Amino acid sequence: MLSLADIYAARRAISPTATDTPLVPSPFLERLTGQEVLLKLENMQPIGAFKLRGALNAVASLPEDTPGVTCCSTGNHGRGVAYAARARGVRAVICMSELVPQTKVDGIRALGAEVRIVGRSQDDAQIEADRLVAEEGLTEIPPFDDAAVIAGQGTIGLEILERRPDITTLLVPLSGGGLAGGIALAAKAIRPDIRIVGLSMDRGAAMYLSIRAGHPVEVEEVPSLADSLGGGIGAQNRLSFALCRDLLDETLLVTEEEIYRAMQALYWEDRIVAEGACVVGISALLAGKITLDGPTATVITGRNCDMDLFTRIVTGQSITLGDYVIEGRRYE
Ligand SMILES: *Cc1c(COP(=O)(O)O)cnc(C)c1O
Repeated sequence: MLSLADIYAARRAISPTATDTPLVPSPFLERLTGQEVLLKLENMQPIGAFKLRGALNAVASLPEDTPGVTCCSTGNHGRGVAYAARARGVRAVICMSELVPQTKVDGIRALGAEVRIVGRSQDDAQIEADRLVAEEGLTEIPPFDDAAVIAGQGTIGLEILERRPDITTLLVPLSGGGLAGGIALAAKAIRPDIRIVGLSMDRGAAMYLSIRAGHPVEVEEVPSLADSLGGGIGAQNRLSFALCRDLLDETLLVTEEEIYRAMQALYWEDRIVAEGACVVGISALLAGKITLDGPTATVITGRNCDMDLFTRIVTGQSITLGDYVIEGRRYE
């Protein structure tokens, strides 16, 4: 079982390489909600996303003579593993599906890792990762369902509450649940009455549907502005499902239009470049889906979006995602 002690240990392991990111106020969200809203800027990590934390903690726990690591990732986890492996001087092979944007593939190659692109889903990429483990002896670092990874992501909860013990609500993007599970574990251990809301996009929200079903369910993976939140939680989920089910007070969904709007707002109001996945908390605030009762923090989880797509969004152009169209609308 994971505990607060594991999260403190993770902080010691990752602190030489991961950044203790800023927690900054968002004046426009304060005007909107009447409460102080703070942004935890994980987009400022060396890889541009929080996943470096979990990856560093997992790589730190490998034996001295490891032949290397592999993982199966929609992007940011792959970048995190690549960066963490290079920091420790071990080989990394990253497996991913064709749905992953080209900027993310290039980013990982630039970090010195080998990239394997296989199939159209997370499951296809997983088969290649399994083969590398069986035939080449690499250690797989899972993106969320792993104790060391969850403890690494949980260090965000420590940093937020150490700086602002008065926070009453945390808004956390939710996909596989390593982030929300780790943060909830840390935050609820320190402040049992804190309210934690997990947020996902309404197209393919695996954890949201699994919590309601009472067991992990499969979802179809479709293109989304929040592409870092895509993918399933694993039929054999061991840790992150139970953590999210037991520790999250609420789970909520937002639409592609609400994500589009929040990316525009965060850019024009706070001048922050953020991927769709990390504005789901802001989306829900803008859409009036959450009422706040005190100082609130949300995690700006990453900035690794396709910049052509990002530019189209912030300039109000229409976006096509597979067979789904988001109508263009200028921000004002
Ligand atoms: C991975 C990721 C998430 C979700 O984290 P989980 O642990 O899978 O729930 C959110 N935002 C970004 C940018 C990510 O890369």
